[in-house]
Amino acid sequence: MPKMRAVQVTSPKGTFEVVERDIPEPSPGKVRIQVQACGICHSDSITKDGVFPFITYPRVPGHEVAGVIDAVGDGVSKWAVGQRVGVGWHGGNCGYCNACRRGYFFACETFTEITGITCDGGYAEYMIARSEAVASLPAELSAVEAAPLMCAGVTTFNCLRNSGARPGDLVAVLGLGGLGHLAVQYAARGGFRTAAIARGQDKAALAFELGARYYIDSQSQDPAAELSKLGGAKVILATVTAGDAMAAVMGGLGVDGALMVIGAAPTMTIAPMGLIGKRTAIKGWYSGTSIDSEDTLAFSVLGGVRSMNEVFPFERAAEGYERMIGGKARFRVVLKMGS
Ligand SMILES: [Zn+2]
Ligand SMILES: [Zn+2]
Repeated sequence: MPKMRAVQVTSPKGTFEVVERDIPEPSPGKVRIQVQACGICHSDSITKDGVFPFITYPRVPGHEVAGVIDAVGDGVSKWAVGQRVGVGWHGGNCGYCNACRRGYFFACETFTEITGITCDGGYAEYMIARSEAVASLPAELSAVEAAPLMCAGVTTFNCLRNSGARPGDLVAVLGLGGLGHLAVQYAARGGFRTAAIARGQDKAALAFELGARYYIDSQSQDPAAELSKLGGAKVILATVTAGDAMAAVMGGLGVDGALMVIGAAPTMTIAPMGLIGKRTAIKGWYSGTSIDSEDTLAFSVLGGVRSMNEVFPFERAAEGYERMIGGKARFRVVLKMGS
């Protein structure tokens, strides 16, 4: 049996182990991908720490996968060996449940396949993916460039394009980390009046470099008041994981404005009365399916949007994960295979 190397977690809160495993065979409806790069996402902590009770171990994390189709299971017609592809959080859907029949593939009621969580992901030389979860990669993007766009990219881009904001509207991005630095680029390239909100004056230069028209330092300024001075935001894209930081910007929304939540903050306290006067809303957004990823990649090529990455050889996944979870990474960490 041919072997591969993989980085796995054996139990909740366990360490990352580099192990040798059999190269898996794709069953019907699935493909095997030779992984070339895999981004490290904050949500990999779900597998690392056992946040979801249904995770079975050992498990290989990683849902920002870029690579090449290496083998194709029976019944797969769309994909062929040699095609460059990516896989994100959405690991597949049944296609026949009520949610799928309404086009809500992300909310499939039959099963919830999540790459690197319910099935093994991209911290490995090879992985198996359901064919409907696979996205085609454009030639213009390298595997390292494409990988972080498979979660951080699609989550911010797809949220923004479904937020109801139209070109010319004031859009604020709360947080200037892994998600935020992409969201600012997408908002600016998408024709929005883009405001970046982060802590400290030292991030202003970066915000402008990424395309922001305004920078609001939430340590020395009141972000809600500043956004109000600019006319009120149509959308605030909340990329941070702190509920109090989200609540603090709510007052900066304009009429019918929405706080779009993609940062998984555990709690948030707001005064519901504050929603009424301007009919403001709080809404969550799910990253997207494989076609949303393809749209994200295409827009990234069109607009020149790129993730700023720290690249680690895949054997050093533990070190890369520590950079990410410690908030030290500027801005995404990407594991590269074959080093
Ligand atoms: Zn992710
Ligand atoms: Zn379904």
